Parts: sequence; C-alpha cells; structure tokens
Amino acid sequence: MFALKPEDFIIYLKKVAKVIEENKEYITELDSETGDGDHWLNMNIGFQKLVEKTGEWKQMNFQELFQNIAMVLMSAMGGSSGVLYGSAYLKSSMLMKDKEIMDEMLFGEMLLDWAEAIASRGNAKPGYKTMLDAIYPAANAYQKSLNEGNDIADCLHKMVMAAKQGADSTREMEAVKGRASYREDKSVGYLDPGAVTMAMQLECMAECFAN
Ligand code: ADP
Ligand code: MG
Ligand code: MG
Repeated sequence: MFALKPEDFIIYLKKVAKVIEENKEYITELDSETGDGDHWLNMNIGFQKLVEKTGEWKQMNFQELFQNIAMVLMSAMGGSSGVLYGSAYLKSSMLMKDKEIMDEMLFGEMLLDWAEAIASRGNAKPGYKTMLDAIYPAANAYQKSLNEGNDIADCLHKMVMAAKQGADSTREMEAVKGRASYREDKSVGYLDPGAVTMAMQLECMAECFAN
C-alpha cells in the first residue's frame, strides 16, 4: 500500500540533496549556457539547508513540514527557483491539512498542484522552456496511469519517463520566461536547467517512494 509519512519525505529530501550535490558540474554548465550559471548553487544551498533543518522537523505533520520547507526554500535557495519551489510546497502544505498519510491519490494531487503553483507563480505555460516542462507532463502521466488502475510502481515509472522526456524536449523549445529568453536565439539547442533538476527530483521520489 502506498502510504507516505512525513519521515519518508525527509528521506526523500536527503536523497535529492545528495543527487544535486553530485551533479555540480553538469547543472552549473547548463545554467551557464542559457542563464547566469547559479542554478546548481541555488538548488544546492536550498537542499543542504533543508537537510540541516530536518533534525528539528522529525515530529511534524505533513502540513507543518511542507510549510517549513517552503519557508527555507524561499529564503535560502534564492533565484527564480526558490520562489517557484516555495509556492509549490506552500500549496502542498494546504493540500495536506489535517492529513496524516499521503496516499497515491494525494501524491497525484500534489504533483498537479506543483505544476499549477509553478505555472501561476511564474506566469508560465508548458512549452515555455522551464521546469514546468518536466513537472507538468510528469503529473499528468502519473494521474493517467493511476486512473487506468495501474499499480504505484507503474504510476511512478510513467511519471519519471514523462519528466525525463519533458526535460529533454526543452532542448528544442524557445524560452519565453526567465533568463534563457533574454538570448537572441531564445536558447534553442540547450536544455533548461530547471527542467533537468525537476526531473532529478521526481526520479528521487520514485526511488524513495516505490515501496
Ligand atoms: P535565476 O534564473 O533567477 O538565476 P535559477 O537559475 O535558480 O534562477 O533557476 C532557473 C530556472 O528557473 C530556469 O531554468 C527555469 O526552469 C525556471 N524558471 C525561471 N523563470 C521561470 C518562470 N517564470 N516560470 C517557471 N519557471 C521559471
Ligand atoms: Mg540562474
Ligand atoms: Mg540567478
């Protein structure tokens, strides 16, 4: 049965922090090509700070945990990502009000909420070459698989495939929002760093939550 507890999510945060830390060169290079080169730094500072704080968060329910994550990301992460992930986690905190366990339905709603929060805060749409191009198809692929009655392993697998495909597809896109849109070529031919790190996070979710 799929029944996440806050402590499972803390394990997930630690996993993401590790994966981000390991991908310093790659992520920095991506944002150096189309942006200002700080995306790895922003993500790394944010997730290291989260890991640091998790010791104080062990007794929290999901609502409190997500609220605290949002606050840390908004204050420590910086950049566009800090604000966008902050609004995503704030929405998750509202979703989990009075809920002790996150089941497969709530998990799907959380993904859809992330896509909605990021689109609304960033004033972005799918196809604008942003992190939305990873989370949006991933949320929809998860939901579709769930609606078809597939088991959680399949739902999470479809989610990861769609996220990776979505991140890859940003290479062909013209940037509409963010720094990548300031370039004359609209960064066509380059991957969007935020979409790549979003796909990494979703892959960590699948790895941590699959059983
Ligand atoms: P900054 O661009 O402020 O330096 P980061 O480098 O941390 O911030 O993050 C850049 C990423 O944020 C981009 O690759 C893109 O995925 C995402 N992003 C930027 N602006 C927007 C927006 N308006 N809507 C959605 N995502 C955005
Ligand atoms: Mg940047
Ligand atoms: Mg910056």
